[in-house]
Amino acid sequence: MTDATKDHRPDGPAHRLETGATPKPKLALYWAASCGGCEIAVLDINEKILDVAQNFELVFWPVALDYKTKDVEALADREITLCLFNGAIRTDDNRYMAELMRRKSKVVVAFGSCAMEGCIPALSNTTSKEETFNRSYHDSPSTVNPSAIEPSVQTQTDGFALSLPTFWNTVQSLDQVIDVDYYVPGCPPQAHQIWAVLETVIDILNTGKPLPPKGTVLGAGDKTCCAECPRTREEKNITKFFRPHEIKPDPDRCLLDQGILCMGPATRDGCGAKCVSTDMPCRGCYGPPPNARDQGSKMIAALASVIDAKSPEETDAILDGIVDPVGTFYRFSMAKATLGRRLVDHAEVENPDVWGRSPSGENEEVSP
Ligand code: SF4
Ligand code: SF4
Ligand code: SF4
Repeated sequence: MTDATKDHRPDGPAHRLETGATPKPKLALYWAASCGGCEIAVLDINEKILDVAQNFELVFWPVALDYKTKDVEALADREITLCLFNGAIRTDDNRYMAELMRRKSKVVVAFGSCAMEGCIPALSNTTSKEETFNRSYHDSPSTVNPSAIEPSVQTQTDGFALSLPTFWNTVQSLDQVIDVDYYVPGCPPQAHQIWAVLETVIDILNTGKPLPPKGTVLGAGDKTCCAECPRTREEKNITKFFRPHEIKPDPDRCLLDQGILCMGPATRDGCGAKCVSTDMPCRGCYGPPPNARDQGSKMIAALASVIDAKSPEETDAILDGIVDPVGTFYRFSMAKATLGRRLVDHAEVENPDVWGRSPSGENEEVSP
C-alpha cells in the first residue's frame, strides 16, 4: 500500500477542501476494472442523490452522464474536488484514467473493494492472462467462438485501425498505480456508509473543517465483522467444515461455531453484518481489519486456534473441507496478498513479460 504518511503530489496534501470561485465543488466518479456494482450502490442512497446534486457539480460519471474523457482532460489540474474511483487496474486504459483522475482531483478515494484491494478481478492473479483468455474466449461452457477470435490491441478493418487497451497479466489495486487519499471498503460499499462519507465531505466543504488523515478508511469501523454480528459465540471446536448449502444453520449461533467458514474474524466491520444476518457467512468484502495486513493470513491464524484435531492427518482431513482456500481467504484482497501472484513454472518465472513478475518475486512493469 502507498505510504500513507507521504504525499507524492508536487503541490502537497489537500489539508482542507477549498472550492475557489466555482459555485459548487466538482465531483467525479469513474469505473475501471469494475462490475458496475459500486456505481449502482451510489444510486442506492435513493433520494439523497438529490443532495449530492445540490452540493456538487457532477463533471464525470460515465455510467450516468454523457461526459467524455476529453472533458476531464480539458479541466485544470486539481479542479475536481473529489473523485470516487471504483474498479481495479488491469489495462493500460485503466492506468491512464487513474493517472488522469489523480492529476485532475484534489482528493481521490479508492471506492469499493476492487479499487482498494483488487477484489474479484484480482483473483485472476492466481492464473495468467493466457489462461484467462482461454477460459473467457474458448473453453467456458457458454462460449461459442468457432473462429477462435480473441481481443487484439490493434485490428485493421475496412481500412480503419481499431485499438483496444492492453490487458495486463497482473491486476493491481488503485494505490498500486497512483497516490490515493482515502479508502471506502465493500463489494459494494453499503449505501448508508456511502451517504455517511458524502455527508462528511459536504460538512467539510460547508464548515472548512480539516480533512481526516491521509490513508483513512472511511465508511467503516475499526473492529471486525464479529463485533457487529448479532449471533451468539461459544467456544469453537471445529471438526468439519460445511458449505452454506450443506446444512441449515441455527439462526442464533455463530456460523463459524457451526462449521460454516465465515470470514468475520478477518474482516473490517461497517456493513452492519449484512450477510451473517441472513444466514450467509461473511465473505470478507470489507477487507482486513486495522492492523491486519493480509486478510488470508489473519483468517488462517483464526482457524488454527479453533480446529479440533488430534493429529496432523485429522487436521488435513478437516482442512480438505475448505473448497478453494485461496479464493475463500483472498476473494477480495488478492492484489494486496503477501502471496503476490501465482507463478507456474520456471520458464515463466524467468520471463517477467509473460507473468509481470521478476525472478526475485517483485512486481515489475506489468503491461506486456
Ligand atoms: S467492489 Fe464489488 S461491486 Fe464494486 S466494482 Fe468491484 S466487484 Fe463490483
Ligand atoms: S464468525 Fe461470522 S457468524 Fe461468527 S460471530 Fe463472527 S461474523 Fe458472526
Ligand atoms: S457480512 Fe462480510 S461479505 Fe457481507 S457485506 Fe459485510 S463485510 Fe461484506
